[in-house]
Order: sequence, then C-alpha cells, then structure tokens
Amino acid sequence: MCYILHIANEFTACGHQVVFRRQRIDCNSNACVLSNQHRIGHHDCHSTCRQSLMREQTWTSGRLLRPCDACYRSGNFSTPA
Ligand SMILES: [Zn+2]
Ligand SMILES: [Zn+2]
Ligand SMILES: [Zn+2]
Repeated sequence: MCYILHIANEFTACGHQVVFRRQRIDCNSNACVLSNQHRIGHHDCHSTCRQSLMREQTWTSGRLLRPCDACYRSGNFSTPA
C-alpha cells in the first residue's frame, strides 16, 4: 500500500524531530487506487483495489547536536548549542 514517508532530522539538543521532506512511496500494485500502476480499464475498483494510504512513516535521516530552528530562535532549550 502506498504511503507518505516523512524524512526528518533529529536535533539532540532539544530532542525534536523536524521533517524536512515528504515523499510519496508507491507500492507499484495494480490493485491500489493510489499507485501509478493502478489498472486502467473497467474493473470493480471498490471491492478489488485498496482505496487509502497507509499511515505515514517517519524516517530519521540524521542526528544533529544543535537545537532545531524553532528552539534556537526562541532560546527554548536546556543544552547550549
Ligand atoms: Zn499503493
Ligand atoms: Zn481500481
Ligand atoms: Zn526543538
């Protein structure tokens, strides 16, 4: 099933995960209404095809020692950057 992948950085100084990219992952199934491979032509779509996205997934791509931008701007973090 298709889903939205959130790619995030984790900021260890404040503990926040900040999503900087969203990517749609295609399941490449012809029985999924959201896939690019969804079958063309007449078929009983509602009973044979998946109709919805799976829950969003978050992937942490990197860990940074500084606080996130929001915390940095507000000074709302305990450990100095
Ligand atoms: Zn799909
Ligand atoms: Zn269909
Ligand atoms: Zn933060």
